[in-house]
Amino acid sequence: MINLEAPRKAGALINQAYQAAAEVFRPISRKYDRAEHTYPAELDMFAALLDGLNSSGEGGAGAAGVRRNEKEAEKGNRNGANLNVVLGTIEMCWGDVGLLLTMPRQGLGNAAIASVANEEQLKRFSGIWAAMAITEPGCGSDSAAITATARLDGDEYVLNGEKIFVTSGERADAVVVWATLDKTKGRAAIKSFVVEKGTPGFEVVRVEHKLGIRASDTAVLRFENCRVPKDNLLGTPEIDTKKGFAGVMQTFDNTRPLVAAMGVGVARAALEETARILADAGVVVDYDKPANTQHAAAAAYLQLEADYESAYLLTLESAWMADNRKPNSLQASMAKAKAGRSVVDITLKCVELAGIVGYTEESLLEKWARDAKILDIFEGTQQIQQLIVARRILGKTSTELK
Ligand SMILES: Cc1cc2nc3c(=O)[nH]c(=O)nc-3n(C[C@H](O)[C@H](O)[C@H](O)COP(=O)(O)OP(=O)(O)OC[C@H]3O[C@@H](n4cnc5c(N)ncnc54)[C@H](O)[C@@H]3O)c2cc1C
Repeated sequence: MINLEAPRKAGALINQAYQAAAEVFRPISRKYDRAEHTYPAELDMFAALLDGLNSSGEGGAGAAGVRRNEKEAEKGNRNGANLNVVLGTIEMCWGDVGLLLTMPRQGLGNAAIASVANEEQLKRFSGIWAAMAITEPGCGSDSAAITATARLDGDEYVLNGEKIFVTSGERADAVVVWATLDKTKGRAAIKSFVVEKGTPGFEVVRVEHKLGIRASDTAVLRFENCRVPKDNLLGTPEIDTKKGFAGVMQTFDNTRPLVAAMGVGVARAALEETARILADAGVVVDYDKPANTQHAAAAAYLQLEADYESAYLLTLESAWMADNRKPNSLQASMAKAKAGRSVVDITLKCVELAGIVGYTEESLLEKWARDAKILDIFEGTQQIQQLIVARRILGKTSTELK
C-alpha cells in the first residue's frame, strides 16, 4: 500500500513548527502587514530557536538545511533534511509567509550557500543571513540576460550593476549576487558572489511598497566598484561552456520546493479558515457524498482541497528526491507551478466563499489572497515553470523551446 502521509519521524518537527506558527506568527501577522517596512523584532528570539533546529542537521524551516548529504544518501532511500525543511516551511507559512521570509538567517541566499559553497565557505559564512540578488531592471525570467559584472583584479572581484526586488535585501547581513565574468561567454560565465553588508560600493537604494508579504522587505541594491575577496565566489570560477548554468541553477532545485511549500502552507491556512466560516454558516462538507449532490459552496471547497492535495504531494516528492540525490529539476518545477497557481486560486476562491468576512480585515483571508501572488512569481514565474517542465518532458533545450 502507498502511504501518502508525512513520515512519522517528522511528527515532532511538524508539531514544533506548527506551535511556533500559531503562537509567534499568527498573533503578529496583521500587525506587520499594516506596519510595512518595520522589522518584526519578535522574530529575533524565535530565530535562535530555529538555528537550534537547523543545527541538528535534520532541518527545520527556512533555507538553512538544504545541503545534500552524500554520506546519508548512500544509506538508501531516506527522508532527510530537504523533506524536513519543506514540512517545517508548510507549517510556518500556515502561520505567515511574509514573516517566514524575513526570518534571520533563513534567506534564499542561505539556500544558495548551502547548495554550492565549498567547505571553507560554509564555515566562513555559517550564521550569516543572506539574501539572493538575481533580478535586474532588464532581466527577470531570463536570468541568462544578467548584465551585472564581476572582474577579477588581483585577489578581489570588482562588482558593478543594479539588482531589484531583493527579498531581505535591506535586513540581511549579506547578499548572494549573480554577475557575469564575461558577457561574451553567455550563461556559463554567470557566477554567484557573497557580498557582505558594509562592503564599500554596496548600497541599498530603496525598499518597495508591495501588494502582499509586507512583513518582508524587498530592496533595490546598487554595486559600484564593489570589491569582494576572490574566495567569495561560490562554486568554481572556471567558465565551462559545456556545463553552462549548472552551478547556479542547482540552487533552484533546492529553493523551488521551498517556495512550493510556502504556497501549500498559505493554501492550507485559507482552506481551514474557510471550512470554519462555512461550518458557522451551516454548510457541511461531506467526504462520503459526491460533490454534485452537495451545497455549491461545499462542492467548490472539495475542488480546492483536491488542488491543495496535489500541490502538497508534488512538493513532498521534489524534496524527497533531493534528499535521495535524484535529479529533481522537473519535479521542483512541477511542484512550484502547481503550488504557485493553486495558492492563488485557492485563496481568492476562499475570499469569495467567505463573502463579506473574506474581503474585510475581520479575517486574514484577504491578506492571504494578497500574499499568495508572489509565490507564483519569484523563483521563476508560472509560465517559466511550465516552460521548464515542457522542455524536460519533450527533451528540448532552452534554445529549442523558449
Ligand atoms: C516581492 C518580490 C520579491 C522578490 N524577491 C526576489 C529575490 O529575492 N531575488 C531576486 O533575484 N528576485 C526576486 N524577485 C524578482 C522575481 O524573481 C521576478 O519578478 C521574476 O523572476 C519575474 O521577472 P520579471 O518581473 O522581470 O518579469 P518578466 O521576466 O519580464 O516576465 C513578465 C511576464 O512575462 C512572462 N514570461 C517571461 N518570459 C516568458 C516566456 N519565455 N514564455 C512565456 N511567458 C514568459 C512571465 O511569466 C511574466 O508573467 C522578487 C519579486 C517580487 C515581486
